[in-house]
Amino acid sequence: VATLGILGGGQLAQMLALAALPLGVRVVVLEPDPHAPARVCAEHIQAPYTDAAGLERLAQCDAVTLEFENVPLAALAQLEGRVPVRPAGSLLNFSKHRAREKEALHAAGAGTASFVVIETEADLPGALERIGGRGVLKTAELGYDGKGQVRIGAQAELSVAWGELGRVPCVLEGWVDFVREVSLGVARTVGGGLAFGGLTENVHRDGILRRSLYLPNDPAEVQARALARQVAEGWNLEGLLTLEFFELPGGELLVNEVAPRVHNSGHLTQDGGGVSQFEAQVRAALGWPLPDFTPKLPCAMVNILGWPADQEPDWQGILKLEGARLHLYGKAHKPGRKLGHVNLVAQDEAALRARLGELEALIP
Ligand code: ATP
Ligand code: MG
Ligand code: MG
Repeated sequence: VATLGILGGGQLAQMLALAALPLGVRVVVLEPDPHAPARVCAEHIQAPYTDAAGLERLAQCDAVTLEFENVPLAALAQLEGRVPVRPAGSLLNFSKHRAREKEALHAAGAGTASFVVIETEADLPGALERIGGRGVLKTAELGYDGKGQVRIGAQAELSVAWGELGRVPCVLEGWVDFVREVSLGVARTVGGGLAFGGLTENVHRDGILRRSLYLPNDPAEVQARALARQVAEGWNLEGLLTLEFFELPGGELLVNEVAPRVHNSGHLTQDGGGVSQFEAQVRAALGWPLPDFTPKLPCAMVNILGWPADQEPDWQGILKLEGARLHLYGKAHKPGRKLGHVNLVAQDEAALRARLGELEALIP
């Protein structure tokens, strides 16, 4: 029996723990939130990420991984050298900071949106012209689900937006006129073996992922895998990470951002007939042999967000829909919050698209 420590106890930790169970792996999570979704299926140390006793418990595990990139680097520094931490703090150091991340992506040979770092008032004049006159101002750290970012179309908006974001270090990114967004998970084990997930096509609304779709043999998959390999090897990855891409009209992929962990777009691997991204991260973190974690069948995922009063999902309809599998995280309801998802599997693309239409009508 192996024991895996996880920094963070949200729904990703919950699903990692569920995937770990049949492998004989016990999970311990360090998470300050008393209502952490992972507490129902893992040992929960309810304490800050930097808590000495909590970190001591994680150091007793066979390996430590994370489900959340905003953990203090000091916590990882206390673990490293005592227990394998995968991904390592050196990788988290840039994946948690949008400017350092883009620089590290360029160093690995991957393209990104153009960007300017905004740290002081003096960085504002001329910044918008330098990235093409239109863009998005994002806090360098702590943003997720589109929080901590403002779209900018004019120089006057830039100063106002920077004030609204708290005058903290930011990155002003050039606007990307993408044709679609795709993402890909890659895992790399100790010694360098690589494994990939399937390329998913993702639809966002208001900066939040709504739906992901996996179809075999996506034309962008070869390019995405090559970029994922460059990043995984260039960053000396041990563990799993997910790349989010913008696909340009000519087919070229730019990296939007990197999550040093399993990703919402990869949830469909739970029901797509192959190994799930969660099992892949558990195995990669422990340094075990890695399976390909591409789905075997066409599949999709639709997020369930906290609903306005009169728009509750039709639960009975979802449970009755052929090929649909409901996953709820046990979180308290709050409008807009990610509370669960539904995976949908079918034998072919036509059947999947037809049922996806039905499913989306059940989740307003
Ligand atoms: P998460 O970590 O939850 O994926 P986030 O808060 O880190 O989200 P981003 O991925 O940076 O946010 O942006 C959210 C979405 O906003 C993107 O998936 C994309 O749809 C849109 N977006 C972000 N940056 C740009 C850009 N430079 N050009 C065009 N669209 C963008
Ligand atoms: Mg992000
Ligand atoms: Mg994103």
